[in-house]
Amino acid sequence: MNLILLGAPGAGKGTQAKRLEDAYSLVQLSTGDMLRAEVASGSEVGKKAAEIMESGALVPDELIIAMISSRLDKADCRKGFILDGFPRTAPQAEALDRLLEEKNLKLDHVIEIKTDDEAMVERITGRFSCAKCGAGYHDEYQRPKVDGVCDKCGGTEFKRRADDNEETVRARLTAYHNQTAPIIDYYRASGVLEAVDGMAPIDDVTSQLKGLVG
Ligand code: AMP
Repeated sequence: MNLILLGAPGAGKGTQAKRLEDAYSLVQLSTGDMLRAEVASGSEVGKKAAEIMESGALVPDELIIAMISSRLDKADCRKGFILDGFPRTAPQAEALDRLLEEKNLKLDHVIEIKTDDEAMVERITGRFSCAKCGAGYHDEYQRPKVDGVCDKCGGTEFKRRADDNEETVRARLTAYHNQTAPIIDYYRASGVLEAVDGMAPIDDVTSQLKGLVG
């Protein structure tokens, strides 16, 4: 089963992709995570991407398309994948159609996680994660049970994304409305778009998604 999760920054694409990955033995393909790994490794791609990501703008299509194309060729994708954060522009959506055809793959679901912008600013600016295992937390909605200690692995170091500040979040939301929202219309017009209510509690969103994918 191959899926796309669409939605604004903070809509919960990453969180839900991880849950679907576990439930259906799929692989999560997050272009944001891939880019952060490139930045951390200090590669040429990472050097190009870092400043753009910190501004909240989108990284050039050619770079993203090349990255996802080679990732789709890895054997683990054959068990099924969840695209999280890709495609994000019309050229990326068109390139994805071409790549799927070339690689003899098809999409089973394209699902939009619908949310309100103001709530996304609050969600994103409060989020942080365990530096060791990656478990996600929030300053207000989901603090660790013991302050300063990860519930899952006992780690005591936490991190925040460099682009999770209010100014950058607003720029990311603008990029979403200007460049990504049009591809929702693209998938709607081709009759494949489904949607879930991303303002519902996390477990409810997971149930809605499972209801769609079966
Ligand atoms: P995310 O982790 O999905 O919120 O992505 C973080 C940042 O990485 C975005 O604000 C963009 O700068 C960049 N990025 C991630 N995916 C893409 C994409 N498909 N196209 C362009 N830029 C992307």
